[in-house]
Amino acid sequence: MGADIGVTGLAVMGANLARNLARNGYTVALHNRTSARTDALINSYSNEGTFVRTESLAELVESLERPRRVLIMVKAGAAVDAVIDELTGLLEEGDIVIDAGNSFYEETRRREAALAEKGLHFVGVGVSGGEEGALNGPSIMPGGSKKSYESLGPMLEKIAADYNGEPCCAWVGTDGAGHFVKMVHNGIEYADMQVIGEAFDLMRSLAGLEPAEQAGVFREWNTTDLASYLIEITSEVLEQEDELTGRPLVDVIVDAAGQKGTGRWTAISGLEVGSPVTTIAESVFARSISSQLGLREITNQVFPAGINEAVTAEELYGSGDARQDFVEDVRKALYASKLVSYAQGFDMLTAAAQEYGWELDMRTIASLWRAGCIIRADLLDTIMKAYEGSEEQPRNLLLAEEFTEAIAECLPAWRRVVAAAATYGVPAPVFSSSLAYYDSLRRDRLPASLTQGLRDYFGAHTYQRVDKPGTFHTRWSDDRTETEV
Ligand code: NDP
Repeated sequence: MGADIGVTGLAVMGANLARNLARNGYTVALHNRTSARTDALINSYSNEGTFVRTESLAELVESLERPRRVLIMVKAGAAVDAVIDELTGLLEEGDIVIDAGNSFYEETRRREAALAEKGLHFVGVGVSGGEEGALNGPSIMPGGSKKSYESLGPMLEKIAADYNGEPCCAWVGTDGAGHFVKMVHNGIEYADMQVIGEAFDLMRSLAGLEPAEQAGVFREWNTTDLASYLIEITSEVLEQEDELTGRPLVDVIVDAAGQKGTGRWTAISGLEVGSPVTTIAESVFARSISSQLGLREITNQVFPAGINEAVTAEELYGSGDARQDFVEDVRKALYASKLVSYAQGFDMLTAAAQEYGWELDMRTIASLWRAGCIIRADLLDTIMKAYEGSEEQPRNLLLAEEFTEAIAECLPAWRRVVAAAATYGVPAPVFSSSLAYYDSLRRDRLPASLTQGLRDYFGAHTYQRVDKPGTFHTRWSDDRTETEV
């Protein structure tokens, strides 16, 4: 009998997924461009399950049960195409090629179409949870054909994270849907981290709360609606003392945030599908600004630090429990901003489903993120509830009862925090842009009418009227009369 699945690309992610599969009773054929990695895995972990060592893709394919399942876990980009090219000459109709790396969904769509022409299934799978998730149970978001999921699904569900007995894995939609959903997950992750950073900065700059003290605040917040993995690990990072200097580690780490690109993809794709994911875009920009260290240094000299050191929570909130009040306001501002960020992420999924013809089920997607992945949070249960029931699904999560109530409760605090941030010069791009998004959506009239007037003035781009159907243009440079066009 042949192996159940083959894994090619045995760096950290591939090796851990292969071990996870083997630990779950599957016979896993292994291949890596450089055999040393294959040997290292077998030497260290052969006791975990049944592995089959192979030295070439031809040998890997040869070793597999039919229909064959080959999981590619090589460096995203050209390497994936190189491996696919070699594999397609070796596989037979009905075989399944799986790309579980961080590929861009458009690439997955292209690859899926090309392989479908050859009678092969190509499945782009979003995997979240990093190295540890890959080994112990990640959140898995498979795309590709429904047919391929019949054969692949049970395997993926077995190795996925478990949330109260339910696997965090389900077919999400055809071709690139899995990678798209994973990309949006990463975009939301960017925003989640940015709002945590903004809360930290505000509480330190305006209420004087030092990192160790804030570790306690975040620990406390983890018992509220904000309960999540990221809030939990924030307290651990904040309480860490640097061994060398004895200072909080967070003060020793260079304040330039890195990025591998998935947040940027989400922002760009949001623009492409016409979905305003402002919180995600602002989070990507915030990382970019942080990385402009040279420019920041010069600017800091030209416009010395904006924060008035005399500012205290007392000044902002009066006497009494001023600090505590401010901290509670920041918690609410963080929660409201997070709600907007998820509302935007799901809005983007809805827009993409229309654009690409995917049958995305929002409730299922929320369920996949409850364990194994970085954005796991109690909020996902709330989102599932919002999408539950046979009635019409909310057009935007902000309109779901669960969200409207929470936003109403947080709103005054959210406004106070954004106003304080602006007044005292503490940057809070996502707190403010999420509030602007909320205010824009609920406004009866927006100044877009003036934008349309201006566009018509300089470019004859035309406009529509509120009082009658049709398309109109004003002869601005002539007699300024209106014509219907
Ligand atoms: P890397 O992205 O570092 O890629 C290294 C692997 O790719 C090695 O096995 C290497 O082989 C192989 N490789 C590179 N170029 C080629 C090529 N031209 N032909 C064949 N093989 C090639 O590995 P990771 O394990 O870090 O990541 C794998 C995938 O998983 C990536 O898409 C990455 O973005 C994604 N990822 C996902 C994470 C998540 O949380 N979901 C976290 C980290 C990564 P060799 O040993 O011979 O050099």
